Amino acid sequence: MSAASIRLPLWAQTVASLAGAPAAGPLLLGVDYYPDQTPEALWEEDARMMADFGFTNVRIAEFAWALMEPAEGKFDFAWLRRSVDILHKHNIAVILGTPSAAPPPWLTAKYPDIVEVNEKGERLHPGGRRFTCPTNQVYRRLSLIIASEMARTFTETPGVIGWQIDNEFTLGSSQRCYCNYCQAGFQTWLRSRYGTLDNLNQSWGTVFWSQTYTDFSQIPVPLPSGGDPNPGLALDYDRYQSYANVSFQQEQLDMLRKTCPRHFVTTNNVGLVDTINMRDLYEKLDFTAFDNYPGFFDMLMAQQGRMGSSAFVSSSIALGHDLARSVKGGKPFMIMEEQSGKAGQKTFSPQPEKGQARLWTYQAIAHGAMGVNYFRWDTATFGAEEYWHGILNHDRSKSPAFDEIKQGVRELKALGREVLYSNYVTDAALVFDYDCSWALAIQPGHFRLAYLDQIVSWYGAISASRSGIDVIGPEIDLSAYKIVFAPVAYVMSEKQAARIRSFVQGGGMFVTNFRLGVKTETSQIVRTPLPGLLRDVMGVTVEDYIPVYSAKNGMKFSPALAGPDSECVLWTDILQPAGAEVLASYTMGAHAGQPAITMNSFGKGKAVYIGGDLNEASLARVLRTLSGMAGVKPPLEVPAGVEVTVRKAGNKQWIFVLNHGASSQSVNLPAAFVDLLNGEKLTGKIDIGAYGVRVLQA
Ligand SMILES: [Zn+2]
Repeated sequence: MSAASIRLPLWAQTVASLAGAPAAGPLLLGVDYYPDQTPEALWEEDARMMADFGFTNVRIAEFAWALMEPAEGKFDFAWLRRSVDILHKHNIAVILGTPSAAPPPWLTAKYPDIVEVNEKGERLHPGGRRFTCPTNQVYRRLSLIIASEMARTFTETPGVIGWQIDNEFTLGSSQRCYCNYCQAGFQTWLRSRYGTLDNLNQSWGTVFWSQTYTDFSQIPVPLPSGGDPNPGLALDYDRYQSYANVSFQQEQLDMLRKTCPRHFVTTNNVGLVDTINMRDLYEKLDFTAFDNYPGFFDMLMAQQGRMGSSAFVSSSIALGHDLARSVKGGKPFMIMEEQSGKAGQKTFSPQPEKGQARLWTYQAIAHGAMGVNYFRWDTATFGAEEYWHGILNHDRSKSPAFDEIKQGVRELKALGREVLYSNYVTDAALVFDYDCSWALAIQPGHFRLAYLDQIVSWYGAISASRSGIDVIGPEIDLSAYKIVFAPVAYVMSEKQAARIRSFVQGGGMFVTNFRLGVKTETSQIVRTPLPGLLRDVMGVTVEDYIPVYSAKNGMKFSPALAGPDSECVLWTDILQPAGAEVLASYTMGAHAGQPAITMNSFGKGKAVYIGGDLNEASLARVLRTLSGMAGVKPPLEVPAGVEVTVRKAGNKQWIFVLNHGASSQSVNLPAAFVDLLNGEKLTGKIDIGAYGVRVLQA
């Protein structure tokens, strides 16, 4: 190692001679560990067992503020240093978590107004976690002080390699704070966003209901006030709350960059939430780190009375992974918490089926992960998460998934850094826009219409084509893709419209649906016929838009999209083509026979407008057909329930084949491959066992 490379962050030091691979970093195949919750007499045994298991690292201390600062300004890191030293002795590297998600009782007793106020105007209470105001300066100052003391103490400590700032921003029982500090912060943020009150009043249309502001200090936060808030104000408040959390993080990040220049810095969150803009959250961090609990999707389905759809679970997990990778433009990401057993607080998911824990690990890798940390090492016998099961049971015996997780770690080490740090390349993208999600939640039109639901449905339908998908923001240049999907693109900026226009002009296929381009960025409705800025690209005018309740409607397809009629589940946009070809028509009511899906030729490309909310089967067929028209092909033809993805480095590629089903499936290989997991040479028809995995290389 040269002197120059020593100055590089450890995580960025390139492993020698990986021809064609992007810069590879450390192996992060570890476990989340709580020495603060474990008798010290067991620390040595834990470290030895983790080393035997094959783990490379732990994440520790992210909820241990009370132990590290037992009274204001009185710090005790001796216990943590003893733990780090023991782990290091056994070659286990350490990711340290800053503890700001759980301030101790002395702090909230002394500074009670750091506690957040919920959307009803009620102040929460200390005693759980994530109950704090992101704007409050006292909370920010004390969070930065404890993080700075940690950083100063551990910057040169052997074995410490990186940081997780805080834990799961915004994921508490109340995801926004509405306190006086946030109101003042919002007003300051608005002043810099709009410059003048005149501009703000115009942008929001405050003349409605006599809301014209004559001083920034008059501007409220959207608390109950006898009627719905101004949509522009409400959308800006969502943006402000996301900003407040990101800027809270930024204070710790700036300090860590200065104090610990050789360490990586990230934070952990859950992909499929829209309470914070993940692209802003991770923009200045070294890589994305998401937490992955497939069992929660299972519980969610049961809550909604949708038992037994393993396709929903596997595609929801895949969507989270594709978002994690796309948040930083395709850079390999990490799973900071991977489900290893029954998981949950008051209620918990079932034990993963035999093979699923290993399968979920490979699913993350297949979608672009470079590392996986399992949650957690031993299972706590106390506290709100005592049923959140780890790799060791309550009595420290092996959990049901112990052996298969160990097998997965061994296999991933054998596959090596070249695979883990390789790229994921795809021709298709799905636009996921936080502004659309927030604006639609403020005025959904139909009480069951939700942006995230539409994203999950569309992702599930597109992933059935097995072509791979990037999950991109509205600011991304689209020219790398053959097809771009953008469901419910409700808020449309002029810049985004221009990017879509040039993408279609250049030969791409753009596929969208109802509620396209209804709103400006300040949440006013456009003054032109819908779909607003994209009317010429789409080649249609929206004649009317209608939520579906008791007056049902259906859709009949042209031969190009042939299949059984679909019901229109939540919505119908009535379309008037201006040059676009009609691919489906409505079947009922006053608009029977009128166009429901259209495809327009614009420049060298195509623009498809799906006016009605299709049922699951029709959506899958329609989107798969359109992918085919756009020239997108799967790397292998596989049956339903089997997932296939490709990672590449230089001229090498790895095909991941994952069976999410409880019975064996077969796949026909078009050429000869080697399964890198067992060295088997494979041709023709091969089997993938229940919850099985193959990693194929030609
Ligand atoms: Zn607040």
